[in-house]
Amino acid sequence: MNNNVFDADLLIIGGGINGVGIARDAAGRGLKVVLCEKGDLASGTSSASTKLIHGGLRYLEHYEFKLVRAALSEREVLLNAAPHIVRPLRFILPQSPGVRPAWLIRIGLFLYDHLGGRERLPGSGSISLTGSAYGAPLNPSLQKAAYYSDCWVDDSRLVALNAVGALERGATILTRTQCVHAEPDENGEGWQVELLDHRNDKRTQMHVRVVVNAAGPWAESCLSNVIDGVRATAMRLVRGSHIVVPKMFDHDNAYIFQNPDRRIVFAIPYERDFTMIGTTDDDFNGDLDHVTASQHEVDYLIETSNRFFTRPISKDDIVWTFSGVRPLLGGSGDQAKEVTRDYRLDLQKAPSGSVALSVLGGKITTYRKLAEQAVTKLDSVFNTAGKAWTATAALPGGDIADADIDSFIAKLAMEFPWLPDDLLQRYARAYGTRIRVVLDGVANINDLGSPFCPGLYECEVRYLVTHEWAETAEDILWRRTKLGLHAEQTTTVRLQDWLNAHADSFGTASQDAKGIA
Ligand code: FAD
Repeated sequence: MNNNVFDADLLIIGGGINGVGIARDAAGRGLKVVLCEKGDLASGTSSASTKLIHGGLRYLEHYEFKLVRAALSEREVLLNAAPHIVRPLRFILPQSPGVRPAWLIRIGLFLYDHLGGRERLPGSGSISLTGSAYGAPLNPSLQKAAYYSDCWVDDSRLVALNAVGALERGATILTRTQCVHAEPDENGEGWQVELLDHRNDKRTQMHVRVVVNAAGPWAESCLSNVIDGVRATAMRLVRGSHIVVPKMFDHDNAYIFQNPDRRIVFAIPYERDFTMIGTTDDDFNGDLDHVTASQHEVDYLIETSNRFFTRPISKDDIVWTFSGVRPLLGGSGDQAKEVTRDYRLDLQKAPSGSVALSVLGGKITTYRKLAEQAVTKLDSVFNTAGKAWTATAALPGGDIADADIDSFIAKLAMEFPWLPDDLLQRYARAYGTRIRVVLDGVANINDLGSPFCPGLYECEVRYLVTHEWAETAEDILWRRTKLGLHAEQTTTVRLQDWLNAHADSFGTASQDAKGIA
């Protein structure tokens, strides 16, 4: 196609954190955006992270000061933008003799405190573990610890909220829709792309100005197999896995343990009743659509837990494992744990001149900054696009006064006196001010509809389908919420049956690609 009538300015491939971040930023700057995601939002790496908004203390060892500074400064930006799904988290770092000397950790924490700007997060310090609540669950040989603060985020909800924010600024979000081919125009003005809707095997053609490859670990194969006329960049794919076990300790701080191999492993309070332990760094060359924890990774994490906690665990204690693949920049020579977590934005032109932008690498923590830089980089194509705007804008539901979640929840308790406290807490932390949309027309507990499992009622399911692109029981139980951890096995089938019977009747957040072309 050689005319310059475009269906969209940008076609973004990939509905992970980087794709939806770019979609929201670009739509907010006035660009016409279409995003396609071949599965569910956050079905790739972005739901399988350790869920930290962090500078990455250990990256200081590799002299990655620029990356750490940029990441540290994003902590409070995101805390202010989404105080419902982002919260401060304190880490206890026990001294492990023979791994890193205490003075090195003190220097690292001094830099950590001062590199990236910090207003709300407390600074670092040291404590005695002996006789303290923090030492109680730990091997008694661990006597001293340092502590510092970062933030925790519900990663899959961060993706969903960015997608909602993009939609509300005019973007079209197509889930279960794969980009199968992008062909540069002969005159170099844009791309002819083909999308495949996996729900009905329908193919749609679209003419777009710029293609953005935000396919995470699939980025390299997207460059080789989907986008014609551009050079592929080799990525280093590194799997990381977590195990989830019944909770190992009774406070709401996290631990960061130093293993004898110098790797660090986190133990983080998770979903009220559990502890999440991870992660690993394993080079990966398997099927990206089916990433699971290897026996070796599970054994490593069990062994780590047993090294530091007094209560031993075995594989029978594991209630869930999840794994993701890091798309990393960098050669094959370094050890996986040493490969940089920084990102690169590759602007390429096909021989005809058509422009494609690839996101290579990155972290959840830096997604907003990455998205801002990506859209700014496209200024040369869209010189009419507006200015960067996301640094001070709340994410959907995040417009909470002074980002004070506790006062917000106290007010909600008065507004919804009939809502049981655990449900109120969960809704407030998942939906923020959008709780009023979730509970629109609901005046008492019966109006919530039938429960599928403790805490999951029809009304929330309806909201997730109509506002957040949820289509399957898995989308709801394992990504939009983590209620799968608390549900019985039969819940999945019951919920899926209900969705099959009802979802069509109340419409979905997705739009048909036909409406765009
Ligand atoms: P993804 O989330 O994988 O998204 C890419 C999407 O593209 C996928 O959903 C895929 O389905 C889709 N796609 C691929 N091909 C196509 C196509 N042809 N058409 C349509 N869609 C397509 N970062 C942090 O900041 N903090 C952490 O604590 C942290 N912990 C981590 C722990 C682990 C174990 C791992 C693996 C990573 C961690 N990260 C962390 C890094 C972070 O999770 C990733 O950098 C980030 O999620 C990558 O997001 P993405 O959007 O680039 O990729």
